[in-house]
Amino acid sequence: MFSDLIKIGFPKNCISCNNSLVKNETYLCGNCFFYIPKGELTMSSDGEIGNLFNHFDCFVGGSHLFDFDKEGKTQQILHELKYNSNINFGEYLGKLMGSEFKDLLKDIEYLIPVPLHPKKEHQRGFNQSLLLCKGLNSVLKTPISTKNLIRTRYTETQTKKNKSQRIENIKNAFEIKKPEEFIGKSVLLIDDVITTGSTLSECMAVLYEIEGIKISVLLLAKANY
Ligand SMILES: [Zn+2]
Repeated sequence: MFSDLIKIGFPKNCISCNNSLVKNETYLCGNCFFYIPKGELTMSSDGEIGNLFNHFDCFVGGSHLFDFDKEGKTQQILHELKYNSNINFGEYLGKLMGSEFKDLLKDIEYLIPVPLHPKKEHQRGFNQSLLLCKGLNSVLKTPISTKNLIRTRYTETQTKKNKSQRIENIKNAFEIKKPEEFIGKSVLLIDDVITTGSTLSECMAVLYEIEGIKISVLLLAKANY
C-alpha cells in the first residue's frame, strides 16, 4: 500500500510498456530496450541511410539508432518525444545515441539539429532534434550549432504526403546564415525520424555549397514509408 502511494507520487514506469522500472532503468525498461529493433549502428555511405544521400559529394555517412517495429515501440518513443513535451526524455535519447555512436563520431566538429520554423518551435515549446543534440553533446562534448542553418519557410507537416509532395513541400525551406563557420568542417546533421530523407536532403542542398564541408547524418529512428 505504502509503496503504491510512492509510485503515484513519483511515476516511474516504462514509456513503452508501462511496467514499473527497476533500479538503473530510466524511461525504458530493459526488456523494451532489448526488443526495439536497432538500426545500422555504423556510419555508412551505402547503407539504408547512406544510399539516400551519397549523390552529394560532401556526404560521408549516415546511421540510425532504432528501426521501425511492428509492435509500435519505436512510434511510441517518437510520439513521447514529440508530443508529450518530455524534454528530459529527449536528452536521454540523445545520450543513448551518443553512447552508441561515440567512437564513430569522434571527428565531428559541429552537431547541427534540423531546425524547426520559429513559429512551429514556439507552438511545440522545443525542437526535438535540439534535445537529441543536447544529449549527444553531454556524451561527445562536440559543440551544437543552432543559429547557422535556419528554417526560413513555414511548411505543412510531411506526415500525409507522398514522396514527390514531400520534396515539393520542403523545397527551399532552409538557409545558411554564416557559411564561413562550416568551411572545411565535419558536421553531423541530427533529426528524430527519417522517412524519405527529403528534409535532410534539403538541408544538405544548402550546406554542400560550403567549401570543404563534410556531412554525416544521424537519426534517432527510421520509419517505414
Ligand atoms: Zn518496457
